[in-house]
Amino acid sequence: MRTKLIAANWKMYKTPDQARDFFRDFLPMVQGHDRDEIVVCPTYLALDAAVTAAKGSNVAIGAQDIHWEKDGAFTGEICATMLLAVGATHVIIGHSERRQYFGETDDSVNLKLKSAIEAGLIPIVCVGEVLEERAAGLTDDVLRRQCLRAFHKVSAKKAVSLVVAYEPVWAIGTGKTATPQMAADAHAIIRSETAESFGPEFAAKLRILYGGSVKPENAHALMSEEEIDGALVGGASLDPKSFASIVKY
Ligand code: PEP
Repeated sequence: MRTKLIAANWKMYKTPDQARDFFRDFLPMVQGHDRDEIVVCPTYLALDAAVTAAKGSNVAIGAQDIHWEKDGAFTGEICATMLLAVGATHVIIGHSERRQYFGETDDSVNLKLKSAIEAGLIPIVCVGEVLEERAAGLTDDVLRRQCLRAFHKVSAKKAVSLVVAYEPVWAIGTGKTATPQMAADAHAIIRSETAESFGPEFAAKLRILYGGSVKPENAHALMSEEEIDGALVGGASLDPKSFASIVKY
């Protein structure tokens, strides 16, 4: 059995003070909840506040991106060792908003994945098709290509902590959710592509999260699918009560 992972992606929301307020309210709501792993990914600036607030709890803290180099002249960027130094344990890589607005490519996702793995961060690699690709029947091809390129020259031995998030771009922040069956089908494609890259044993253990307008109202149906190993939650993770109810689905 794969332990489910429920992750919050706060995007460009919440100051450090607002992060502290969130944890003050959220932690008592999920205290003792050990059925699933819980991760919250605030902005870089709120990481320290979040790590301090969540210390000793059942909630881990992650970042929303990294640069792939160890250090260097890369203005505005943050590397893996800096994330580890503030106590982050996870990192989202290749989110569709990074791909859409900030020029993230399959190749940069690959570099970032390698860097995260080398440093000992748990990577959450996002893949997913846009609406036009789904309408054109290209979902399989897109998911296979994104996985193949992301995993290029990554060794199965080093990638043991890998988590993949299937996030159909048309479902992110739109209120449209993939049906549990659509998500399960996409997860099966990702799992089969992962088996090609890393072998069937690795693929069987891989956790594949679903992301795209997950809400308290649809979390139970989605999480009941055998292929769905957790959720990556944007908008509905900003409110402690709403995120706690997703965690407890
Ligand atoms: C996300 O940001 O990864 C996401 C899935 O957003 P939302 O839940 O708001 O659709």
